[in-house]
Amino acid sequence: MSFADKVLTCRDCGNDFVFTAGEQEFYASKGFINEPTRCPSCRQARKTAMANGNGAAPSRPGVRLDRRPA
Ligand SMILES: [Zn+2]
Repeated sequence: MSFADKVLTCRDCGNDFVFTAGEQEFYASKGFINEPTRCPSCRQARKTAMANGNGAAPSRPGVRLDRRPA
């Protein structure tokens, strides 16, 4: 199977981002059938929020999220 880069629109920030052929291949190898709905930076932001245990809470502007050593 071959993949081609695809431009998608982020549902969080509305920016276009590229779902690269490599990423599509990775998704397919993991058995994911859905395309990503967020751009990499929004995905990372969500990941960070989840890791900090406040994924459900709205992030307050001006509050710095310090990364604690694992
Ligand atoms: Zn985004």
